[in-house]
Amino acid sequence: MAKLSDPVTMLKGVGPAKAKQLENLNIFTLRDLICHFPRGYEDRTQLKTIEKLEVDVPACFRACVMNTPRTSHIRKGLDLTKVQVADHTGRLNLTFFNNKYVSENLQYGREYIFYGAVSGDFIGYNMTNPIFETLDSPPVVTRRVMPIYPLTAGLTNAALLKLVRQALAICDPPPEILPESVRREYGILGADRAYQAIHEPQSMAEAEEAKKRLIFEEFFVFSAGLSLMRAARAEKKCAPYENTELRPFLASLPFTLTGAQSRAIADILQDFQKGTPMNRLVQGDVGSGKTMVAAAAAYCAANNGRQSALMAPTEILAEQHYQSLQRLFAPLGISVALLTGSMTPKEKRLTREALAAGEIQVVVGTHALITDSTTFNNLGLVIADEQHRFGVAQRSRLSAKGEDVHLLVMSATPIPRTLALLMYGDLEVSILDELPPGRESVDTFLVNESYRPRINAFIRKHVAEGHQCFVVCPAVEENEDLGIKAATVWADTLQQTVFPDLRIALLHGQMKGIEKEMAMASFARGEADVMVATTVIEVGVDVPNATLMVIEDADRFGLSQLHQLRGRVGRGSAKSYCILTSHNRNPETLQRLKAFCKTTDGFKIAEEDLKLRGPGDFFGSRQSGLPTFKVANLSYDLTTLKQAQQASADWIDRCGTSDTPEAIALRDRIGDLFQRAEGTMN
Ligand code: ADP
Ligand code: MG
Repeated sequence: MAKLSDPVTMLKGVGPAKAKQLENLNIFTLRDLICHFPRGYEDRTQLKTIEKLEVDVPACFRACVMNTPRTSHIRKGLDLTKVQVADHTGRLNLTFFNNKYVSENLQYGREYIFYGAVSGDFIGYNMTNPIFETLDSPPVVTRRVMPIYPLTAGLTNAALLKLVRQALAICDPPPEILPESVRREYGILGADRAYQAIHEPQSMAEAEEAKKRLIFEEFFVFSAGLSLMRAARAEKKCAPYENTELRPFLASLPFTLTGAQSRAIADILQDFQKGTPMNRLVQGDVGSGKTMVAAAAAYCAANNGRQSALMAPTEILAEQHYQSLQRLFAPLGISVALLTGSMTPKEKRLTREALAAGEIQVVVGTHALITDSTTFNNLGLVIADEQHRFGVAQRSRLSAKGEDVHLLVMSATPIPRTLALLMYGDLEVSILDELPPGRESVDTFLVNESYRPRINAFIRKHVAEGHQCFVVCPAVEENEDLGIKAATVWADTLQQTVFPDLRIALLHGQMKGIEKEMAMASFARGEADVMVATTVIEVGVDVPNATLMVIEDADRFGLSQLHQLRGRVGRGSAKSYCILTSHNRNPETLQRLKAFCKTTDGFKIAEEDLKLRGPGDFFGSRQSGLPTFKVANLSYDLTTLKQAQQASADWIDRCGTSDTPEAIALRDRIGDLFQRAEGTMN
């Protein structure tokens, strides 16, 4: 017997060339091959009569060869072989291109099973290049359900199937991870049968069953992984924080906290006193004031002699958090430092030394923070801002920074409930469902190009009143996609021809970290009137003086993204506006954008977005931190997801730490999955 981890090159027929092709499909081992699932099936189980064949619908039929195949040489490289076949309902002419095999194997007077689609018109029907087998041959390409695989150049479906079959014959499929009781309760196929049947089902119904089993399995593994993480954290001990006095902090704020902020902070203080590490998500729409919640937590940690690390997804955001925490904490005698990738090696070294020496109580930074080279003196709290960009795996790795580290994650992206379960199954949740007082909703309008003069006048009006504007474009530079606005070009146009007297700034993702920061900081200081940018400003950036957000080619953005962008304005006391431009004429697209103009409820927008685009796009590619699901599709398989979640929670409760073969196999799989998720993050 071979092992699942054996390389595919051990299979018959896999030399260097074939191995390369398989590599293109990310297939290296027998396991990869067995887990390369079909993307669909062709039902070739039903035999039709010739009379019943439908144009362009491939089907199987049994027919007798009525003459000896005749091959004619049309021109160099083109040979045509023609033959006529018949059953009791009719006759059909078959044509084959460059197929020697036909003339050698189709014999006059014998019957075969064919599979193909007729084409034709009133002059007569014809079939081109059908495949065929003799009646007594085993059903390989006809009389069966045919799996259709994702392929790569040079590798045919038949060749791939043959390899899969070979692999399944010489090694056991992945071990069973679903306990018998679960399988029985949810009517789930066993692993043995499922891995066979996903590739070679006896019927379409069995293919469905196999698929259901594998989807269930994926969700089960993932949910079980989250449950285990949660359980593991609950087992850890840490000294409860004694000092939870916040009055000096609260007194130093220029405003009073909202009720929601106070509740979230109370949740956190309670966690701090519990004696087990906190694992909490604070979810609140843009502008709901999450930073203050984080600050309160860091303040409390500092008062208990522990360091805090605040991680932001971008340097701009890290810089900004640094500024606001610095302002807040300096008078309170708490030292704050910044640590980002674009600092000089020396600056980084000094900051790290100070951190290790315990001279810094709060450090703000990007991912660079969590790299191994940063050591803390007594880290007590890790805060991850805009959490949807930090994956589950990173979360678990973070807690490895310290045994008893409290974890606080903050997300402004309202996550539809179904996905939240999946992403945050290991977290407690506090929701900020209240905006600071005095915020007016941002009025949003959808316009077309004919409004350009009015948009320009509107920008002028805002600037004349001492406010600032954002103009967001979908692209950085002009590319093949000519229809859409590029930030660099548009910034130029605005500066040269439209607003020569205004100060136009530019910000996009291709700029260096330090350039981005300088541009943003300068804009925040009021040194530019209009900031032309790409979605790099999407996350968190706070410029309360900005009152107008123009989003060019708004149809290019996801709804959740638009919502994030819109959240960049309306952060001060002045009335703010968001203008979407689009020359898209698709009624559905326009409908979607119009609906967006009317609602400010982030959760509603998120649900809508998920429906429209599916979970992958919902978070932007590769940013969800979710593992990629091979068979499951989150927007369609929600019922299975719920079942699997229920089943895994029950099962983990009962026997998560037991040592049955299934439990051990399950834990192995969880490990693999979370490692993979981590791999796709960077
Ligand atoms: P987000 O939840 O989007 O991260 P921020 O924390 O950036 O929101 O807060 C948005 C703005 O609201 C900031 O300018 C912040 O100072 C201000 N703010 C936060 N809490 C309050 C409050 N309770 N009252 C008034 N303004 C507040
Ligand atoms: Mg924020």
